[in-house]
Amino acid sequence: MSKGKVLLVGAGPGDASLITVKGLLAIREAQVIVHDRLVNLELISQAPPHCQIINVGKTSNHHPVPQEQINQILVEHALAGKNVVRLKGGDPYVFGRGGEEAEALAHEEIPFEIIPGISSAIGGLAYAGIPVTHRHYASSFHVVTGHMCQGNEPQNWDVLAQLDGTLIVLMGMTRQEEICQRLIDGGKSPDTPAAAVMYASQQRQEIAKGTLTTLKDEIVRKKLHAPALLVIGHVVNLSDVLAFTARQIDISHEPLLQVI
Ligand code: SAH
Repeated sequence: MSKGKVLLVGAGPGDASLITVKGLLAIREAQVIVHDRLVNLELISQAPPHCQIINVGKTSNHHPVPQEQINQILVEHALAGKNVVRLKGGDPYVFGRGGEEAEALAHEEIPFEIIPGISSAIGGLAYAGIPVTHRHYASSFHVVTGHMCQGNEPQNWDVLAQLDGTLIVLMGMTRQEEICQRLIDGGKSPDTPAAAVMYASQQRQEIAKGTLTTLKDEIVRKKLHAPALLVIGHVVNLSDVLAFTARQIDISHEPLLQVI
């Protein structure tokens, strides 16, 4: 039997209509979809009737499926000749472990393709009125993970504290207070603007704004939790002026997308 193909598709930051045209077409042709927790379920509803849907974001006992098992699921379905869509939040290669999945497929000589997506780190912040660069305020941006891997500190916060650009922390909410303090300890001004953006680009999007010193209180006051982006830098101040109310396009009803 000939092997199926695996498409690693970026679903975008949350608003379903932020998926690429190529990504949407891939879902509509999929025989198997393997998706994460952060993926908008409206996208899954675009799958054809007999498509098998596998949620690897959360199992019944609330633990995500281990990465090796996800790799195995992709490999097995492709070897069975199925066309598989691996649907991941944001962009598949931005902290999505997409690189590991593609390696597993390459190792088994299974044909695969990457369909990039809009990362929450850039597109999500845009919805909160925060441009990651700005000629007057930030000439670089740095996207890092705040998540500790097996208890090891993933970043050198002292070095990051010395950078002038916008600092964007993914998976950092549970440690936000500590991260802000480490940046202050590393020499960043305690008055540096900082924000947390929860459910970026979705109807339920919420933002907490303050400084490296006050952000923790704002997060408590506004009851923010994961998934959220932490963003540190002067561009945060622009959100007062640049925040907008998004027009949410329902992809199952929008005539424009119906013809795609
Ligand atoms: N591949 C994804 C990131 C995966 S890591 C991307 O490119 O966006 C998961 C982390 O991304 C979350 O813990 C959170 O910090 C961030 N994230 C993803 N989607 C988000 C959203 N809609 N709102 C806020 N944070 C989000």
